[in-house]
Order: sequence, then structure tokens, then C-alpha cells
Amino acid sequence: MAKKEKWVKIADADVRHIWVKDGRCVADGCKGKKSVSLPPTFYQDSGTPLCSSCDLDLEYSHTEVKASDADRKLAVAVEAFHDINAYFDKIDEFTDAERKIVRIVSKALKAIKA
Ligand SMILES: [Zn+2]
Repeated sequence: MAKKEKWVKIADADVRHIWVKDGRCVADGCKGKKSVSLPPTFYQDSGTPLCSSCDLDLEYSHTEVKASDADRKLAVAVEAFHDINAYFDKIDEFTDAERKIVRIVSKALKAIKA
């Protein structure tokens, strides 16, 4: 199946960068915040953010996009579908029941995305 993907411009206010990898400051014994969320412009304006407890550079963790309940549910469904696909890609032979499950899930996902 060919993938059609495009880059889409979104407002800075709808994106936040989460710093503090693995949920904690990497400095030994530091009780720094579990995570820090900053606007995408922070790095340009101020460079790598620092831990408020020990002043060590924080590590970038990930980016989050503001989403409605429906968007979040769709994102979970799409991720589950990718997980299922990755799982089935590892299996050489499918049973009839497994093939049917893949067809049902694919159909449901196409309906959600339409
Ligand atoms: Zn720290």
C-alpha cells in the first residue's frame, strides 16, 4: 500500500517540546522536575534549557501536538494499527482467523480516517 504523506504547517501555539529525557534529570542525585514543556521557539531564543535544580543542560525528550479528543483517539487507533501491522509482518504464515482480523482492523481504520 502506497503511503501518501505531506508536511503540514501548524501554529507554534499548538506544539510544545518536552525536555527531560526518561522523565528525570540525568545529574546524580538531582531532584529536578520530571519534565519541562517549552514552546518550539525556546531553543532559538535561549538555547538548551537548564535544569532548575542543578543548572545542567536538559535533554530533549519529544514533541507534542495539541489535539482534540477525536484526534487523540484517532492517533491511538493509528498507532495500534501500525503495531498490529508490525506484528503481522514478523509472521510468515497466517491462519484464516488472523487474516480476517487484519481485514477487519484495516477496514475500521480506513473508515475512521475517511
Ligand atoms: Zn538537575
